[in-house]
Amino acid sequence: MTALIISGKDIAENLLDNELVPRVEALKAKGVTPRLIVILIGDHAASASYVRQKEKFAERAGIVAETWRYNDSVTEAKILEEIKNINEDASIHGVIVQLPVPDHISVEKILRAIHPSKDVDGFTPENVGQLFLGEPTLECCTPKGIIRMIEASGEDLNGKHVVVVGRSNIVGKPVAILALNKNATVTICHSRTKDLEAQIAQADILIVAVGRPEMIKGDQIPEGCTVIDVGIHRKEGGGLCGDVEFASAVKKARAISPVPGGVGPMTVFCLIENTIEAAEKLS
Ligand code: NDP
Repeated sequence: MTALIISGKDIAENLLDNELVPRVEALKAKGVTPRLIVILIGDHAASASYVRQKEKFAERAGIVAETWRYNDSVTEAKILEEIKNINEDASIHGVIVQLPVPDHISVEKILRAIHPSKDVDGFTPENVGQLFLGEPTLECCTPKGIIRMIEASGEDLNGKHVVVVGRSNIVGKPVAILALNKNATVTICHSRTKDLEAQIAQADILIVAVGRPEMIKGDQIPEGCTVIDVGIHRKEGGGLCGDVEFASAVKKARAISPVPGGVGPMTVFCLIENTIEAAEKLS
């Protein structure tokens, strides 16, 4: 059996042309151009590359994305002041702080300072709470993108057993809640889970966000499972890999997302979609 490859890149391209561009045109006809501010602190190479991808995709959607750069020594007070100004600026519809930030800056404080209506990463307690309640909100980008990919692969989450490996606040926990809101039965696993293999063996849909290169092998994956690989790692000899060993997993899965070209492009897509959604609500 050859698995269906769930190309986040293709899904994002398709939705860009068919959904985002027309929504931006409708806003522009009303005199509104969605504007996103990305706060980038320090010179983290991976962050700089993610920010470039966001800028490029924003440009193709027809929205403005500005990266405001600060050096490593910028104070927390300065960033909080910038966020306060952004919250009050009606021409700005969305703001994100590219993570990680230097140790002297509190991620919690920074995220809590962002007004929920402009929180296009979906990280503020208000937006996470809304997501937990199953209310419409700006949903965190990676989890939102994962659900879109599963559905685009022809899988209906209703009644399915979803196993999530990883419980971070930005991927594991919110994606589990989104799947639950879609009527899936959800198991969340983490580093203290006993007998991870037995948990994975129950999965109709397996979402892996552990941050460990190729940790999950094909022989652990149940036949016919839909696999979403969130991890992204640079391999020693060059190239990228995920948290799942693709070569063996592709032989067992019904459908699988690749790395690169899987969850990454859908995360970027959802950020731009959230910015457009914020502009629609704020205008
Ligand atoms: P975190 O490091 O915050 O969380 C990792 C989770 O995996 C933790 O809950 C941890 O458990 C669990 N874990 C670690 N080792 C094991 C193990 N041996 N068995 C079971 N569970 C384990 O990572 P993130 O959620 O932020 O990211 C995960 C991966 O996804 C990374 O590779 C990251 O780069 C990638 N990523 C990709 C994105 C994209 O857009 N493509 C976006 C965000 C992340 P515990 O809580 O017990 O410590």
